[in-house]
Amino acid sequence: MLNETAYTLGSNRSCIRELFEYGRKQAAIVGPENVFDYSLGNPSIPAPEEVNQAIRDILADTDSLALHGYTSAVGDYETRKAISDDLNCRYDARTQPEDFFLGCGAAPELVSVFRALAVPGGEILAIAPYFPEYKPFAEESGLIFRVVPPDLPDFQINLTAVESMLTPHTQALILNSPNNPSGVVYTRQTLQALAELLKKKAAEFGHPIYLISDEPYRELVYGGVEVPFVPHIYRDTVICYSYSKSLSLPGERIGYIYVSAQAADSKKLYAAIAGAARGCGHVCAPSLWQKVIARCTHLRPDLESYDRNRKALYEGLTALGYEMAKPDGAFYLFVKAPGGDAAAFSEKAKKKNLLLVPGDDFGCPGYFRVCYCVSYDMIQRSLPVFARLLQE
Ligand code: PLP
Repeated sequence: MLNETAYTLGSNRSCIRELFEYGRKQAAIVGPENVFDYSLGNPSIPAPEEVNQAIRDILADTDSLALHGYTSAVGDYETRKAISDDLNCRYDARTQPEDFFLGCGAAPELVSVFRALAVPGGEILAIAPYFPEYKPFAEESGLIFRVVPPDLPDFQINLTAVESMLTPHTQALILNSPNNPSGVVYTRQTLQALAELLKKKAAEFGHPIYLISDEPYRELVYGGVEVPFVPHIYRDTVICYSYSKSLSLPGERIGYIYVSAQAADSKKLYAAIAGAARGCGHVCAPSLWQKVIARCTHLRPDLESYDRNRKALYEGLTALGYEMAKPDGAFYLFVKAPGGDAAAFSEKAKKKNLLLVPGDDFGCPGYFRVCYCVSYDMIQRSLPVFARLLQE
């Protein structure tokens, strides 16, 4: 006998991965220059050279036993201190090393936080469009996953819908800004209005409603747009952070959970997160990468090539007549599908070897995602294909 839910999850491949594999196969048949693959959010700028230098330095000056040994489950103090200092310096955040739990990237960190909050009948709200993995993460953790409909056409937050969906069973709301898949950054005003609403409802229900801020794209923002530090706006915040995108390290699996000391029951919550991680088999974040991060928290990505791609696609597609919200962050555009059926449109595009992800899995049918961590050259070659698709 097998666990049926696990079996179903494991045997149904994600639409994004399928498209990506299809693209590889097609490239072998028609040539890579004739495939326009916008499917996968794999960073296309290399990690900063300082990261590689830090690895060499650490290998040269750290005792091998200490380097490759277990660390404490919450992570090395020096790394947590470096992260805390960096946030305090950038946001006047007033964090302490004790508020941090080093994890293996945002995905397992989210699972630990979800599991820590999973009580019988407990609900979590996600705002469409949302990262598709939230659903299995939440449901496997034992939370009821509910989707707040999108705020069209700007993809901020539909507060009227949030208000109507908050119930005494709501344990948390998950937020992702800069957003995958829309590329939108929630404004300070949006976040303040959301915070007021959550405070009001938490008081009415007599228990906290936690805001889980999923921030792998925090530093991927263009044109000086502000990404507010959420705990300043809402006290009961937990941040799940990852270096996968900001330092282009998705295969290394390193990030952190921050539980604001101001949050309701913060010590208990932190312990529950640590316990949930333990229950999932967490031992410690990779020791070498903890040491690298301790030396590299000050580094920021060089966004020049993403920004160039963003402008080329946003301006190119808009000029052709495609519609989308202004993409100020991350490396995605979320485009309204001509004709309204994104799955049909993506299928049509696929026949021309243009790989676009339909929005259905992001909780937002009628749109498709374009991931622009690709070469500038590919963007230029793909624009005539986008044009032909519109004409047909
Ligand atoms: N959250 C969002 C919004 C993402 O887009 C991703 C990855 O694409 C993740 C979480 C998971 O990131 P990580 O590689 O840190 O597990």
